[in-house]
Amino acid sequence: MKEKILVSACLLGVNCKYSGGNNENDKVFEYLKDKEVIPICPEVWGGLSTPRAAAERNGNQVFTENGDNVTEAFQKGALESLNLAKKLGVKKALLKAKSPSCGSGKIYDGTFSHNLIDGDGVTASLFKENGIEIITELDL
Ligand code: SF4
Repeated sequence: MKEKILVSACLLGVNCKYSGGNNENDKVFEYLKDKEVIPICPEVWGGLSTPRAAAERNGNQVFTENGDNVTEAFQKGALESLNLAKKLGVKKALLKAKSPSCGSGKIYDGTFSHNLIDGDGVTASLFKENGIEIITELDL
């Protein structure tokens, strides 16, 4: 049986990124060749539109660059993603590095000045708390 894996949809070429574009990556497709792929986009699943304002995590909250608090949408998207993982019995995810939702290990610091700090996006945090292993495209 093929290994199931959740994958950030933007890494697969879906235009769900905040800018309206995507982060398609050849290494991702190569890595996923023998796997059963379940695409996710927590920010869209949280109810946010595309394109949308860039956002960064600041502590336990998430703000857009305009100062809007979008924490609730980010949390909703994280929960929707976790619920799907549980229903399908998926234990691994390949997520987009540095995103305020999907980033794992390093994220931007909340000042919109391209500074990276140690930390996880909202969905990545919830996945880790629930025992889902995360890799990013930078690990491939
Ligand atoms: S929330 Fe995740 S999947 Fe959606 S665009 Fe952002 S990085 Fe990609």
